Amino acid sequence: MIVNKSPGKDINHDDIKNKIPLVAKKNKKHFSKINIAGVTFGGKKIPIFAGPNTVENKKLIFDIAKNVKKIGASFLRGGAFKPLTFPYRSKKYFETELRGIEWMGLAKEKYKIPVITEITDTKFLREICEVADILQIGSRNMQNFPLIIECAQTGKPIMLKRHYGASLRDWLGAAEYILKEGNSKVILCERGVSTPHTHSPTSRFLIDLQVVPAAKEITHLPIIVDPSHATFCRSWVESMSLASVASGADGIMLEVHPRPSQAAVDPLQSVNYKKFREIFNKMKKIAKVVKRKI
Ligand code: PEP
Ligand code: MN
Repeated sequence: MIVNKSPGKDINHDDIKNKIPLVAKKNKKHFSKINIAGVTFGGKKIPIFAGPNTVENKKLIFDIAKNVKKIGASFLRGGAFKPLTFPYRSKKYFETELRGIEWMGLAKEKYKIPVITEITDTKFLREICEVADILQIGSRNMQNFPLIIECAQTGKPIMLKRHYGASLRDWLGAAEYILKEGNSKVILCERGVSTPHTHSPTSRFLIDLQVVPAAKEITHLPIIVDPSHATFCRSWVESMSLASVASGADGIMLEVHPRPSQAAVDPLQSVNYKKFREIFNKMKKIAKVVKRKI
């Protein structure tokens, strides 16, 4: 329960000092720059992550790696272990799992692009660490502390997605667990929050862009935005990507698929290569306005 909130804010001074001492900024200008596989997060340049929701198959991940790299993505994303909302799986998405990780590794080597992939179970920690440049802790596992701690102990960079029901306070508390293990390579990722359906006339999730400046007032960790999951709706991805860059995000994660409507998972939110290129070029212009670069 939150007590003694600062007016309009989720976190008070006591929280900052006592609950998140490692995640909290030491002074106003304290922002961490994190270098991962030659890509800097938290610097002037805004790295773009792009790729399918699900690895699906080797041919697909190779094609996507080649194309998103050509367009300008710094990281290839793709899930091989997916915590799906419902237990029934599309025929196209039969358990890619370790094979998916292997295909990501091959695509990374062939197209010289670093990769990020989700980890849901420490059973596969070793195999995933061999391939992934960043371990993605998904929204649903934001407070799965045994999983987070074991991932933190590997020393691998971690992207911690915000749970769609979590406050900024809870989210930073989860990040503190990683830093407490001596691992400070942490990137936060906003991916949309749930709202009571009666008050949410637009979509399943609501993109919380004010969390970007709010987080930056408190933490030195870079924060990126995933407009694909946040909107859950392809036609809104472009404008929300531009708004995310304008909000001060330190990175953007986008779902890209050559045939979006046929994507095995979340086919409503992926964009095709042409659209990704358009979004990429427009984000570049917005970045300039906020004195950043893409
Ligand atoms: C994903 O990025 O593939 C994903 C499952 O996202 P989230 O955890 O935000 O739902
Ligand atoms: Mn998803």
